[in-house]
Amino acid sequence: MEKMEKKEKIILTGDRPTGQLHVGHYVGSLRRRVELQNSGEYDKIFIMIADAQALTDNADNPEKVRQNIIEVALDYLACGLDPEKSTLLIQSQIPELCELSFYYMNLVTVSRLQRNPTVKSEIQMRNFETSIPVGFFTYPISQAADITAFHATTVPVGEDQMPMLEQTKEIVHKFNSVYGETLTDPSILLPDNKACMRLPGIDGKAKMSKSLNNCIYLADSADDVKKKIMSMFTDPGHLRVQDPGKVEGNPVFMYLEAFSTQEHFERYLPEYANLQELEDHYARGGLGDVKVKKFLNNVMQEVLEPIRNRRKEFAKDIPAIYEILKKGSEKAEAEAAITLSQVKRAMKINYFEDAALIQEQAKKYAAEQ
Ligand code: ATP
Ligand code: MG
Repeated sequence: MEKMEKKEKIILTGDRPTGQLHVGHYVGSLRRRVELQNSGEYDKIFIMIADAQALTDNADNPEKVRQNIIEVALDYLACGLDPEKSTLLIQSQIPELCELSFYYMNLVTVSRLQRNPTVKSEIQMRNFETSIPVGFFTYPISQAADITAFHATTVPVGEDQMPMLEQTKEIVHKFNSVYGETLTDPSILLPDNKACMRLPGIDGKAKMSKSLNNCIYLADSADDVKKKIMSMFTDPGHLRVQDPGKVEGNPVFMYLEAFSTQEHFERYLPEYANLQELEDHYARGGLGDVKVKKFLNNVMQEVLEPIRNRRKEFAKDIPAIYEILKKGSEKAEAEAAITLSQVKRAMKINYFEDAALIQEQAKKYAAEQ
């Protein structure tokens, strides 16, 4: 089959335009995407602004989604995604994705969706209780459509996306076993560092998330970044400098795991050889939170400053960015249309291109006359 011959390496990933992107996105997915893009190992890369998905829990606030498209696009470009190498697209502009979702819905049970742990916790977080929008409940199916529409082989995302990838793989297997080999089975690509898989919020909550208001944004000013870091949640039991502190689960140390390198130590904290030494000192007692936070601030300012500056440059020509998104969406739609026609052929809903079917039925009726 067409798909079997090509064996291309294809990336699909994306973000919901519910706010600007934060440093959790950066370490969980964005940084890796840029590396993969620049590795030259991938044949195609699709980066999606998931506005249709954002509307599943923001149906009454379309203006929020609309305003944040440009914010996410600016964050992408600022981090180094290059529209010459990566196709940047807007989900709602690809109607084929809705069609695919509609057919995939027949392959998933309600109880299977109810078991999805990420959706479960998101439902709780949003206080939906019994009034869960059907669109929100079924968004893992629409994510399967996004991934399969581009025959993605690789999906670089944070840990919260694991259940979505599982769901997608199940749909792929089910589809292929019922209708014949058509869809590509994707693999998840998680960050290799635990802190990056799910960066906690500055409030110490398990996940930094736009919806929880506990973020350091890529676009935050140097001052705001510093304020946020200095106000960060640490170990509540570490009251005096001489007290032993807890490193495990301490957001400040998790951020250091996610961001700091050997060079950062040499530059800003040469009295420690590496993070392990700093952690040991904290655990022993005698190391104050302020000192650790100041180091973290130096590290994060170094990482964020060039991103912030590039963002400002790109923001000087907003119409050009919409043009990039328009072109990317058109290119993506052409790809999705090919997949949709493969799917419809496999599902036998391609009546008008099936001359054999029409002839066979014509013959049958001719014989009866
Ligand atoms: P929302 O609150 O609207 O769901 P979000 O902050 O969870 O927003 P998404 O757009 O849902 O962001 O996630 C986009 C990508 O970023 C996904 O791949 C997700 O795994 C990753 N991601 C989001 N938050 C984090 C985090 N705190 N740590 C690591 N990766 C993250
Ligand atoms: Mg999310």
